[in-house]
Amino acid sequence: MIFTGTLEITFNKPLNNEMVNDIVKLIEFLNRDYLKRGTRKAEEAASIKEYKINSNVLIIKIETGSKVRPDEASLRIKNVLASNLGPKYKIGIRNLVLKDVKVIMESKISISLKLPFVKNITVEDGKNLIELSELHEDDLRKPVFLRLIRLIEEKEKRAKWGGKAEHWTLIKSSRIKIEKPISEDPNKILEDIGWIKRMSIGQWLFTPPLTHLINALKKLFLDEVVKPLGFQEAIFPKIYPLEVGLKTGHLKGVINSMMFASLPKSYDISEYEELIDYMYVMDEIEPEELQKYLKPPTYFLCFAQCEPFYWFFENEIVDDSILPVKWYDMSGPSYRWEAGGIHGIERVIEFHRIEVVWLGKPEQVIDVRNKLLEGYEKFMDQVLDLEWRMAWVTPWFYEQSGTVEEEEREININVPGTIDFEAWLPYRGPREDNKNWLEIGNISIHGTKFTEPFKVKHNKGETLWTGCSGFGTERWLIALLAQKGFDIDNWPKKFVDYVKETPFPQSISTVSYPKTKEGKVLLDKILSKFRW
Ligand code: ATP
Ligand code: ZN
Ligand code: MG
Repeated sequence: MIFTGTLEITFNKPLNNEMVNDIVKLIEFLNRDYLKRGTRKAEEAASIKEYKINSNVLIIKIETGSKVRPDEASLRIKNVLASNLGPKYKIGIRNLVLKDVKVIMESKISISLKLPFVKNITVEDGKNLIELSELHEDDLRKPVFLRLIRLIEEKEKRAKWGGKAEHWTLIKSSRIKIEKPISEDPNKILEDIGWIKRMSIGQWLFTPPLTHLINALKKLFLDEVVKPLGFQEAIFPKIYPLEVGLKTGHLKGVINSMMFASLPKSYDISEYEELIDYMYVMDEIEPEELQKYLKPPTYFLCFAQCEPFYWFFENEIVDDSILPVKWYDMSGPSYRWEAGGIHGIERVIEFHRIEVVWLGKPEQVIDVRNKLLEGYEKFMDQVLDLEWRMAWVTPWFYEQSGTVEEEEREININVPGTIDFEAWLPYRGPREDNKNWLEIGNISIHGTKFTEPFKVKHNKGETLWTGCSGFGTERWLIALLAQKGFDIDNWPKKFVDYVKETPFPQSISTVSYPKTKEGKVLLDKILSKFRW
């Protein structure tokens, strides 16, 4: 990305020969030194390509790179001129304006013409050219301008990533454990035997037997991994004001998979009379009609589940006595519109998760993550005895270099980023094929991604980081059932102990439920092992 533009600096009196001689030297200094400061490569810096003087106006053609951008370059030029010429010649700068700003992009991107400062977009040789409107000194200092530049930069970075959401690098995997892979899909079995019933797309009712298994798994995870590290339970809200999503970045990043909630326009039931009468007589409700009675959405439904944690500490000043803060929430579902990808209970619109969150100084956040990581590994490998692997995934926005090439490099996990845990689902196919693995959970360190926008401060000015980890209960259970089947004799001992702690609930069987005769027979077969 290159910016070009013409900077016009108007002085409060005409420039004489002596001043012009000084300007020549100052421009030489700017090009050699001051416009290069803080950069490592030439393409990051700014330079003055040509200049001329018309009476009291200095006209400079600048070209700037990714680090010293037009705003920064213009202000640096102004500072150097003002501080050198001002005291010596009693001359001041009356006006500064940057004209004909063009952003030349290496990739083709699109950007809204409705945004401030964006004048036009053209394409030349497959490259984008964004023309900006005239920028005055106060425009260059505005956060809106800086955010516009950041947006353009991010778009280019993203384009370079080739649409891929993240980079995936294997960190570690278990030994091969499964000799006789089970070919049945546990999602289908659960539905066939009537332990789950689909209410609507990607949403299920879990009957007491499956709930019993999920609760046993959750409790085992909490006892083995979360509680020994001192995490304490909190109850987080499950619908969030839009402003929270603006700060976490979710609205900008994943709005296509978020769900929203609206408040009614009126609390006065008489205003709904027409709608109610219609339902009475027609026995139906038209969503389009209903919409007329609702306000525009002001909430989004729980997406990442950790959003309220950052919100809680917004504008707070914390001291060492409470750090690191270690909480978890499991008080309700998360919602994601997954469009075409929905499958069984492993990829749903409404899912359940234990969300583990922590806040502290960088070394504390890394330490907590490392201990959690150890706990997860033991849980996957020994407690549940799964075939698992973990990978370092860098979402595109964390990628520093902005390059797409698969570099062979040592991964450093003590920086902001995510570790995914995956389990092999034998019913999908051979373990050699990546698409037969399912992400069951992850751990992230965010750096200041959330403490910055939520302005979470330390009383002694130290940097604060956060971390979070999501344990998707449906996915862990599916991984276990896919690898171990429904025969309780093949299940890991600790899990069985937890399952057997309380009597196994009754399975529902009616004349027409479970739907098929085969399902009922299978249910009986599975249940024969569930007596204790
Ligand atoms: P995937 O790549 O499989 O879509 P993700 O990267 O979107 O997963 P995260 O955003 O990291 O998942 O969510 C954290 C955890 O929440 C996941 O590891 C998983 O356990 C669970 N999860 C996410 N989306 C779903 C879903 N649609 N259905 C069930 N569980 C989910
Ligand atoms: Zn989270
Ligand atoms: Mg997803």
